[in-house]
Amino acid sequence: MNMSDEISGNVIRPFQLESSSLRGRIVRLDTVLDEILVPHGYPDIVSQLLAEATALCGLLSSMLKYEGIFTLQIQGDGPVSMLVCDTTSGGGVRSCASFDEKRVEKVRKQLLAFAKDEVGEGSDNHLVQLMGKGHIAFTVDQPEHTDRYQGIVELKGTSLVECVQHYFIQSEQINTGIKLAVGQRNGLWRASGIMLQHMPSDGGNAEVDHTKTQFSNFDEDDWRRAMIYMQSCTEDELLSPELSAHEILIRLFHEDGVRVYDPIPVIHSCRCSQERVDNLTQMMSVDELQEMIDQDQLTMTCEFCSKDYHLDKSRLNKIIKESSQSV
Ligand SMILES: [Zn+2]
Repeated sequence: MNMSDEISGNVIRPFQLESSSLRGRIVRLDTVLDEILVPHGYPDIVSQLLAEATALCGLLSSMLKYEGIFTLQIQGDGPVSMLVCDTTSGGGVRSCASFDEKRVEKVRKQLLAFAKDEVGEGSDNHLVQLMGKGHIAFTVDQPEHTDRYQGIVELKGTSLVECVQHYFIQSEQINTGIKLAVGQRNGLWRASGIMLQHMPSDGGNAEVDHTKTQFSNFDEDDWRRAMIYMQSCTEDELLSPELSAHEILIRLFHEDGVRVYDPIPVIHSCRCSQERVDNLTQMMSVDELQEMIDQDQLTMTCEFCSKDYHLDKSRLNKIIKESSQSV
């Protein structure tokens, strides 16, 4: 692939460092991120966190080996109670947040009083204040190949990146380094991230020797050097509309011979449908359905894309009738 194929854009590019066999991914989200965030109309401080989670989700979707969906779900007891993002193997992304408006506003004011800087740069991280205590769940759903797989890690540390790095080292024995930047450029939200991993073995099949603190084939110097290169990438470079993902990788890792694989274009896409909404009502209790009819709440809104779905009253009545008969 040449460099001009994607000057900035919305893209995920897997890569490998030839000298050390370290593997990685770079993700860049520009217009897609705005498409996701703007319609939600969340406060900037929430959008910022959701943008981080969305970019992370794009990086972590490398856990998909086959066709499927990777979901990142972050739950906490803070002002922001939940962030949900998912990425399909085809590059479709969507995300949404649940939060308490008053509590978020309180945190925003506290932070403004604390630091005069306006919220909006990736280096400010307010994970603890916004999410409190909780956990991150990673779900790999590849219906045609494997069972659903889920990993969970406690929300601990000052950033989502820190939590995720911790998860890979502790639970998966995979050395993982992530560099992430989120911010607004020319009034548009942008996010970008690089992830480098040392897989337990080059082929991915050999067993990890848990009795050793180091992994087989693992060269500490290679890892350290690659981490230094990765960390040397500035927030401005990561978010620059003028630099492509490919150019960033060449800048950072040219000495290690970086092999960049074909881009996966990222698009904003939601998988909601009338059929899914109908299936959902099918699973609701008689009381819940009756209440919706009584209160004339015959619309369901998709939390990801805000699309409204109409619920047919006679259909709901039919479900109620059928459930009461089956009891
Ligand atoms: Zn939707």
